[in-house]
Amino acid sequence: MSGPVVIVRSVAALRAQVSAWRKDGLTVALVPTMGALHAGHLSLVKRGLELADCCVASVFVNPTQFGPNEDFARYPRQEELDAAALASAGCHVLFAPDVAEMYPDGFATTVSVSGVSEGLCGAVRPGHFAGVATVVTKLLLQCLPDIALFGEKDYQQLAVIRRFARDLDIPVRIEGVPTLREDDGLAMSSRNAYMTPDQRAIAPWLFRALTGIADGLRAGAKAADLCPMAISGLLKAGFDSVDYIEVRDAASLAPAESLDRPLRILAAARLGKTRLIDNIGVEP
Ligand code: AMP
Repeated sequence: MSGPVVIVRSVAALRAQVSAWRKDGLTVALVPTMGALHAGHLSLVKRGLELADCCVASVFVNPTQFGPNEDFARYPRQEELDAAALASAGCHVLFAPDVAEMYPDGFATTVSVSGVSEGLCGAVRPGHFAGVATVVTKLLLQCLPDIALFGEKDYQQLAVIRRFARDLDIPVRIEGVPTLREDDGLAMSSRNAYMTPDQRAIAPWLFRALTGIADGLRAGAKAADLCPMAISGLLKAGFDSVDYIEVRDAASLAPAESLDRPLRILAAARLGKTRLIDNIGVEP
């Protein structure tokens, strides 16, 4: 079923397409994105097409998940390139609503998730996860896919989405997909395009800092000793600031000290105006 991707802009047209597939007995995967698609996004589409017959990718730069001093206005928008990339990955439909379609006049509802939304990115970006949870809830209910795929690259976001999908009984399987990286370890991200060549050369130290902490935990060291060292290492490597580097329980995201269960090491750091995030898992 590969060919040009069909671009759909209204919820009604999306629902008509999904109903037609359902009548034919086909299953549906949804991949929500903000566009400026790279190979990491396309790996979600590929996984979606392994798990379902048809794939919808949404591209919507969601204003409600950006803070007032964040990069909403300059976030890259390139629909034609995105449509071509999705077609090459075998994606069937690009759902590209405008802001008025998603947030019509009078819109007044927010999905807010406590617990997993707090700390890490939630502490540095107030309101961010409520914006994500609200728009992803809408996308899930607009499309009602069998399965929705999200990257582990945004590990806290994935935890937030799993939480509200379960709490709100949204009948969709949530599937996490491993992070795709450049050859030097840098996690692929639409925001990598913001970096100057000098910043791009420093950026892989974020991944190296995470793997260094994983090695330390495996050798029996404690998070409380490893994380501050990693922060000074990043500043020495040329990062302008570090929002956090923390070790958490991989499932609950509760703070963790040593490798007595599956853990996740998560970090966010800034190179000029570019904020990079990354995380890796480590098992006992
Ligand atoms: P974004 O467009 O940045 O909102 O990302 C859309 C989806 O793609 C999210 O579920 C991300 O976690 C996922 N994603 C972004 N970067 C990567 C990557 N490097 N590898 C795998 N998934 C990714």
